[in-house]
Amino acid sequence: PAGETQSQHIGDVILLKNITAFKELDVAKTNFIATVSHELKTPISSLMMSLQLLENEKTGTINEAQKQLIESVKEDSGRLLKITGELLNFTQLDTGNIQLSIKPSDPQKILDYALEAVKTQAEQKELKITVQASPQLPAVKADAEKTAWVIVNLLTNAIRYSPEKSEIKVGINKTENADLKFSIQDFGNGIEEKYLNKIFDRYFQVPGSHKSGTGLGLAISKDFIEAQGGKIWVESSYGSGSTFYFTLNV
Ligand code: ADP
Repeated sequence: PAGETQSQHIGDVILLKNITAFKELDVAKTNFIATVSHELKTPISSLMMSLQLLENEKTGTINEAQKQLIESVKEDSGRLLKITGELLNFTQLDTGNIQLSIKPSDPQKILDYALEAVKTQAEQKELKITVQASPQLPAVKADAEKTAWVIVNLLTNAIRYSPEKSEIKVGINKTENADLKFSIQDFGNGIEEKYLNKIFDRYFQVPGSHKSGTGLGLAISKDFIEAQGGKIWVESSYGSGSTFYFTLNV
């Protein structure tokens, strides 16, 4: 409009925007999720306890149909408890409130604990879980509880996406970089390549996959492993299964 024919650099414009209000909203949201999930945990746990009492013969006899109903309420309550637990973990990570207790831990013990936790789930699908571990594994610098949580989460996914009567291979091996590599391999459908770099994102679920989860499990696992100085990744060939790996320092 001023008659120039050629573009000419006459200066830069710097725009500053105060995002405090957005940050405050974000914190409020995280606190809200933390409060809600924390408040939900207690009644769900007490529901689970009442269900256990109901199943006890001393409370009175129940017929087969009632037993099945109780079983399904129990499954749903278990799922709710898992979701609220994940949300709580996530809010603690988000606010930096996570307390890691890192000390020399026995990798075999951590794995055994996780395997025990998923035993019934695996049996229900008649899955065979095989373990291959290098002999005389050194201790790892880890928070045993958080690491077990990660393994349980990876195993639960493997079980969920495995066809019945298939195999899940678990491994713990030494690497050249003075760390231990854990692996969990399933022979399910695998993950399409275009989603591989997204599955560790918060709330991400592969379109069309199992909807009952939160899409938080792998994101939390990544945070837990990285907070312990390790790495986590996945290799998958679509159609023939996935292997999740993570490392921990010796
Ligand atoms: P959730 O299991 O709660 O949906 P996750 O963060 O654990 O959330 O997993 C994210 C997504 O990654 C899942 O929804 C699923 O689509 C995909 N996924 C995870 N593990 C496997 C696996 N072993 N085989 C196939 N897909 C998987």
